[in-house]
Amino acid sequence: MNINKKRIYLSPPHMGDKEFAFVTEAFKSNWIAPVGPHVDMFEKEFCKYIGARYAAAVSSGSAALHLALILLGIQSGDEVICSTLTFAATANPIIYQNAIPVFVDSELTTWNMDPSCLEEAIRDRVRKGKKPKAVIVVHLYGQSADIDPILDICSQYDILLIEDAAESAGAYYKEKHTGTYGKFGIFSFNGNKIITCSSGGMLVSDDDALIQKAKFLSTQARDPAPHYQHSHIGYNYRLSNILAGIGRGQLYILEERVHARRANFDFYKKELGGIPGIQFMPEAEFGKSNRWLTCLTIDPLKCGFTREDVRLALEAENIESRPVWKPLHLQPVFQEYPYYGSGVAEELFDKGLCLPSGSNLSKEDIQRVVKVFIHVYQNIMKL
Ligand SMILES: *Cc1c(COP(=O)(O)O)cnc(C)c1O
Repeated sequence: MNINKKRIYLSPPHMGDKEFAFVTEAFKSNWIAPVGPHVDMFEKEFCKYIGARYAAAVSSGSAALHLALILLGIQSGDEVICSTLTFAATANPIIYQNAIPVFVDSELTTWNMDPSCLEEAIRDRVRKGKKPKAVIVVHLYGQSADIDPILDICSQYDILLIEDAAESAGAYYKEKHTGTYGKFGIFSFNGNKIITCSSGGMLVSDDDALIQKAKFLSTQARDPAPHYQHSHIGYNYRLSNILAGIGRGQLYILEERVHARRANFDFYKKELGGIPGIQFMPEAEFGKSNRWLTCLTIDPLKCGFTREDVRLALEAENIESRPVWKPLHLQPVFQEYPYYGSGVAEELFDKGLCLPSGSNLSKEDIQRVVKVFIHVYQNIMKL
């Protein structure tokens, strides 16, 4: 590895100029707790930005998903449908509840849950007497899934939808923000996401009572009594007031971050789009992607090299890139669970690569990435 060259990361944090002032304010007022004015304001401001009615700020996207499942009453043995092409964190909370994930394949137009596979899965589970209790749909890499047909199928079978919008802050399906269509939407502010609090998450819903209950459960489920009284099992899932301060600052510049990431995508596409066998992740016409990560597929039959050739060549130059998520139904830990599909997610994993996509990626750095990529292509052409 060429360690003389500065490391280029896949998706590093990128602070603006307000975050530090908010954190300082938290210190000065001694609100160093998972409660305080930044937490309340972050919820309000986030709701306003995405057009949701209520929100609970929590310690991670995973915590938000777990709370969503608890609030929908998911219990031991229940089945929950889940996109297969995603990060493991989408499905882990299903297992926390001792429930059973049922994985559904992607469609090529969005890389997200294929509505016809979803329908097939629901029909088959119903036929087997195991009607799913909920569906978790992911908006992968900031591209929204095709929500309308998915909602239609869900309502036809009276199944509630949770949107895993962890990667899609700043992205839209039709005229509304992702995460505002389902019973719940969840967001992540982990260090690699488009905006970050270092760690954090948000649970949103139009149901006030459920969000109130989320706040109750995420602060150890303390009944209203002067002593410590508990009638429910609680969780320590609330967001710290310090981290909420970072989140408020990041929210101010989310639009700029989307703009910068979309510009990365456009640049890569312009420079690499002409290589035969390269296809960039499409953007469906029904919405706007935040282009969290620039992803493309490399067809070795058409271009003579694989995504691993490119990934290793980048790594040799101290540049981080990643294969597209390995489908969950192929993961050792989830292999035993049902899967419905025709191998689209598997193909995207085999051929897919995510390029460095930070909103603070300099012109010089992105040119370095492109140069290595083009070298791989030129070397093959000489053979
Ligand atoms: C990051 C991520 C999560 C989990 O969010 P954390 O804040 O890291 O817990 C869930 N789902 C997807 C699709 C993610 O990318």
